[in-house]
Amino acid sequence: MVEKSVIVRVKEGLHARPATRFVQLAKSFPCDVSLGYNGKSASAKSSVKVMLLNVKENTEVTVITSGEGEEKALQELVGYLSDPLAGLDAPEAAPPSAPEQPAAHKAVGVSEGVAVGSVFPFFPETITIDERRRAASEIDAEMTALVAAFDRVSARMKLGLADQSLAAGNRAIIHALAELANDDAMRADMMEEVRGGAGAVKAILTVAGRNAEAFRGMDDPYQRARAEDIDAIGRQLALAAQDKHDIDLSAVPQGAIIIANDIGAFELAKAPIKNIAGLVCAKGAMTSHIAIIARAHQIPAVLAYGDGVAALRDARLLAIDGKTGEVVKDPGTDTLKSFSERGGAVKAERAALEPFKHVVPRLKDGQVIEVAANIGTLEEIPAALEAGAMGVGLFRTELLYMAHRHLPSEDEQTEIYGKALAAFAPHPVIIRTLDIGGDKPVAGIQFPHEENPFLGWRGIRMCLDRPEIFKPQLRALLRAAPKGKLKVMLPMIADVSELIRTKELISQCAAELAAEGKAHGTFELGIMVETPAAVFNAAELAKLSAFFSIGTNDLTQYVMAADRMNAQVGALNDVTNPAVMNAIAMVAKAGREAGIMVGMCGEAAGRVDLAARFVAMGITELSMNPGQVAKIKRALASLN
Ligand code: PEP
Ligand code: MG
Repeated sequence: MVEKSVIVRVKEGLHARPATRFVQLAKSFPCDVSLGYNGKSASAKSSVKVMLLNVKENTEVTVITSGEGEEKALQELVGYLSDPLAGLDAPEAAPPSAPEQPAAHKAVGVSEGVAVGSVFPFFPETITIDERRRAASEIDAEMTALVAAFDRVSARMKLGLADQSLAAGNRAIIHALAELANDDAMRADMMEEVRGGAGAVKAILTVAGRNAEAFRGMDDPYQRARAEDIDAIGRQLALAAQDKHDIDLSAVPQGAIIIANDIGAFELAKAPIKNIAGLVCAKGAMTSHIAIIARAHQIPAVLAYGDGVAALRDARLLAIDGKTGEVVKDPGTDTLKSFSERGGAVKAERAALEPFKHVVPRLKDGQVIEVAANIGTLEEIPAALEAGAMGVGLFRTELLYMAHRHLPSEDEQTEIYGKALAAFAPHPVIIRTLDIGGDKPVAGIQFPHEENPFLGWRGIRMCLDRPEIFKPQLRALLRAAPKGKLKVMLPMIADVSELIRTKELISQCAAELAAEGKAHGTFELGIMVETPAAVFNAAELAKLSAFFSIGTNDLTQYVMAADRMNAQVGALNDVTNPAVMNAIAMVAKAGREAGIMVGMCGEAAGRVDLAARFVAMGITELSMNPGQVAKIKRALASLN
C-alpha cells in the first residue's frame, strides 16, 4: 500500500465532471484506490462516493492505492488532482379516415400559426412500487430484474451517446447519467437491499433516494444539482426493472405535434426545436413560460386543453390552430382545406409585415420608440435580429439555468452575455438577473416547499439570500459589459432596500474583479415593475433606478389576484382591466417625472391593440416576442 497527500488544484474541486473523470482514471488501474478527505475516506472507484466527499479546490486530500500497479496509479491520480484543468472539457461540438371529431374543448391558442401533423405523446410513466418483502425463493428473480435494469439503461445510454446529431447539452446530460448508471457502489447497495428482501424497484428507489438526499444536503450548488441526476437515474432504472422506459423529447421526429399534460422549460430544452410542428397541453395559459417559448420559436401552440389531451394519443393526424385554440383529431378533407387556407393567410400576413421590420418608429416630437425582443437563449438571437428588433428588452436568464444541467458558471455566463451584447450592438440589451422560484425549479438550487410559490422566495428575494448564486451572475455581467450596450434589470422588486442591497453587491463584485485584475465594465441598473408594491413605491424606486420595465404578466396576476397559470381565472387575468391600466399609467408617470426611461416587457407589450395607449402614457420602449416586432412597428407607424 502506498499513499500521498496532495493539494487539489482541480478548478472548483471534485464536483460533477472532474469527479467523474477522476473515478474513470482510478477505475483504469487494477489496484484498490481510496481517497481520504476531512477525516472521511471513500472508494475512488465510485463517482457517487467521491462527489459526496465534496472535495474543494485548494484543500488537501490523501490518495491511497493498494495492489497491482499501486505506484503508477498513485502517481497519475496525484498528477490529475494537481492539474487545474483536469476534468474540464474542451467545448463540445455544437448541435445541435376516421370520422372527424370537432374540437370540444375550451382551449387557449397561445402561439399563432397552424399545424397539421402526427402526434408525439409526452406522458411520463408513473412508477408503481411494490413494498412487499420478498421470500427467500423470490430473491433470485428480483436480482435478475435489477441486473437487467442496469443492462438496459446502460445499453440505452450507449446508443444515445453514439448518436452524432446529439446536441452538446444533451450529450453532457447523458454522459453524467451514464456514469451514475455504472456506479459500482450504488449497484452494490441496491443488490444488498434485494438480498435483504426488497423488490428490485423498491431497492433501486431506496438507494437512489438515499444518495440523492445526501447530495441535496451539500452546501455547494453544483454538488446539489447531482441529486437531480441521481433521481433521474433511479427513475430510469426503476422503469427499466419493470421493462418500461421514459419518453424523452429529444426523440421528437420532424413535423410532429407534441401532446402532453404539461411541459417544463427544462424538458422542452431537450427537444430539437426545429422538429416541433405544434404543441397541445392540458395545462398552461397565455403567459405561462411554455407559451412564451412557443411564441419565441413561432411554434403554433394550444394550452389549457384539459384532460381530453390523453384522448388525442391515438390520433393518426392532428390539426391545430394556435390562434383560435382549435384542435381537430383526424381531420377530414374539409378541415384540411380550411387549415391549409389559414396557413396561407399566416404566410401572406408575414409577407405584408416585411416592409415594417426595419423601420425606426418615431413620434411627432421625434421621440424614438424602441421596439425590442424578449429572448431566453442565444439560439433566439438570429430570429430576433431578422424580425427587426432594436435590441433586447428582456433576456430571461433563468432559461439558461433551466436548460443547463447545472448552474452555468461565471465564465460560461460571461461568454453568453458577451455574445448577446455583441450581436445587438449598438442597440441595448437588457439582461434580467435570475428570476426563479418554487414554480420554476432549477437543478442545484433547493427551494423550500411553499404553499404559494408566486408569493414566495423567488426572483430578487432568492438571489439576495444566496450571494453564492447571485454574485457569479453579477460578476459575469460586469465582465461582459464592454462587449456592447448592457443594461441590467432586477425582477420582482417590491422594496427600495432590495435595490440598495443589490447595488452594494455590484460594487463588491466590481472591487473584487479589479483586485483580481479581470477586465470589466459598468452597466445601467433598472428594475422590473411587476409587483403592486413597486407601483406604489415607484417614485422612490425611480430615484435609484436607471430605468423601469413593466412586467405586465406578473403585474396583472398580482393586481388582479388571478394566477397567470390558471385558465379558470383567465378572464380576470386581463391587462386591460382598468385596475392594471391605471397601475401602468402610474408607473409611467413616476418614471417620466424622474426623467428615466419606462419600458414594458410583459406580453402586453406585443399587443397591437394597446400599443398606442402605452405610448400615450409615456412608455418609450416595448419588448416582445420577436414574432410581434413588425406588427407593433406597423401599429406605431399608423399613429403618425
Ligand atoms: C412579466 O412578469 O411580465 C415578465 C416579463 O416576466 P416573466 O414573464 O418572466 O415572469
Ligand atoms: Mg415576471
